[in-house]
Amino acid sequence: MAQQVTEGVYFIQGQDEFIPDSHMYVIGKPDSKDLSIIDAGLMGKGDYKLGSIDTMGIEFTWIKRVIMTHTHLDHIGCLAEILEEIPWAELWVHELEARPLEAGDERIVYGMDMFKSMCMTQYNLKPGSFSFRVDRRLCGGEDLELGGIRWEVMHIPGHSPGSIALYDRQRKILIPGDVVYADYAIGRFDLHGASGAEHKESLFRLGEIEVDILLPGHNRIDTNLPPGYIADTAKQWAPYLV
Ligand SMILES: [Zn+2]
Ligand SMILES: [Zn+2]
Repeated sequence: MAQQVTEGVYFIQGQDEFIPDSHMYVIGKPDSKDLSIIDAGLMGKGDYKLGSIDTMGIEFTWIKRVIMTHTHLDHIGCLAEILEEIPWAELWVHELEARPLEAGDERIVYGMDMFKSMCMTQYNLKPGSFSFRVDRRLCGGEDLELGGIRWEVMHIPGHSPGSIALYDRQRKILIPGDVVYADYAIGRFDLHGASGAEHKESLFRLGEIEVDILLPGHNRIDTNLPPGYIADTAKQWAPYLV
């Protein structure tokens, strides 16, 4: 399923298998012909995601970059498939995950050893399948002008070391990756490079900004978030995040 959420923000729903497939978002006003993909998805989902982009009337030549909220397997799995069709697209990743990605260190991608061997067998993955050159390393704090819309980059570690959110302050839209979901759920904090304490701090930081439209990496999106939703979520989870 693919839909326009609001002007210049498109949602392509993940197609979960026994492993989840992350949602993909496409941001930017079509007239600008300067669009960005946010997150790719699971292995084998490239055709579905690109087909959905096509269905919405977006031309591949308008897509200039892929920005990763973080580099877990369910988000980066089909990045190579996407880049094969859109080879000119730049790859933007937070520096803390860009470094291992370029060095071929796949511990963050797989999250845990048991999961790694299971996935490598299931999807016939070779070591080095997730080694990418990163064109721009994000740090958090950037003020990006992307396709006619302003997005602030927030570094929100905890779920993974280089997790970022994109925030449209004017329209109160947040794309937080797997850090916070709808229905008072949050991302897991037990994988390689994760930290409950950092996750807590990130959630409280997100709780300070105004968000009406929440576009997370999984599960449902919420276009009419109650006021204080993320702060309430942070408070509920705080006792478990140490
Ligand atoms: Zn994740
Ligand atoms: Zn995910």
